[in-house]
Amino acid sequence: AIYANQVALLDSKERDLLTGLPNRQTMELTLDEVVRFHLDNDQKGIDPSWLVMLDIDHFKLINDNYGHVYGDEVLLHFSELMKTNFRYTDFLFRYGGEEFIVIINNASEKHALKIMSRFHQAVQNHPFPSGRLTVSLGYTCINPTTPPMLHFEQADRALYHAKHLGRNRIISYSALQIETIDREDDVELF
Ligand code: GH3
Ligand code: MG
Ligand code: MG
Repeated sequence: AIYANQVALLDSKERDLLTGLPNRQTMELTLDEVVRFHLDNDQKGIDPSWLVMLDIDHFKLINDNYGHVYGDEVLLHFSELMKTNFRYTDFLFRYGGEEFIVIINNASEKHALKIMSRFHQAVQNHPFPSGRLTVSLGYTCINPTTPPMLHFEQADRALYHAKHLGRNRIISYSALQIETIDREDDVELF
């Protein structure tokens, strides 16, 4: 039902003009619906959904080296790769600039990671007009009891960490939490 709703929604106001993907406003509405779906189906053993933030690595260099029109072409290639590598049940958005969001629906973490890795690899293998490209991903589990907007902050923190560690990788918000706890333990021990 959410998917049908999303397809119906998509006139030009809700889409990003360059890539044809739903835009940030549409994404916020969709996330609300996904959260509500999981709240309503809490006890039914449905696998969770995941909010994934994707940011192209060193994209500014492409604009600087080849110009904006070339940069736009790369963004088009990237969005087409998204459309072919995620499942039709996943929701894709252009968040802004060279940042995209995917909501992976009803998947175990292992399965969600497999889907993310497939895309991550596809980007590395794709002959972009500007040459080879990599992407960083940060993701978090959509928890129906967490305010929807907080999920962006969580995925963004994971993405920030992925960049900090050298880019071209997939980092989960929950792994950051564990690392932080480990570090706090260290402080207590020594
Ligand atoms: P990082 O690996 O840390 O993500 O580095 P980056 O260079 O990708 O990140 P940064 O945020 O510094 O640069 C993003 C660039 O994306 C800057 C901006 O000029 C460019 N950009 C944003 N929107 C568009 C667009 O619609 N078209 C083009 N061609 N460029 C865009
Ligand atoms: Mg960016
Ligand atoms: Mg970037």
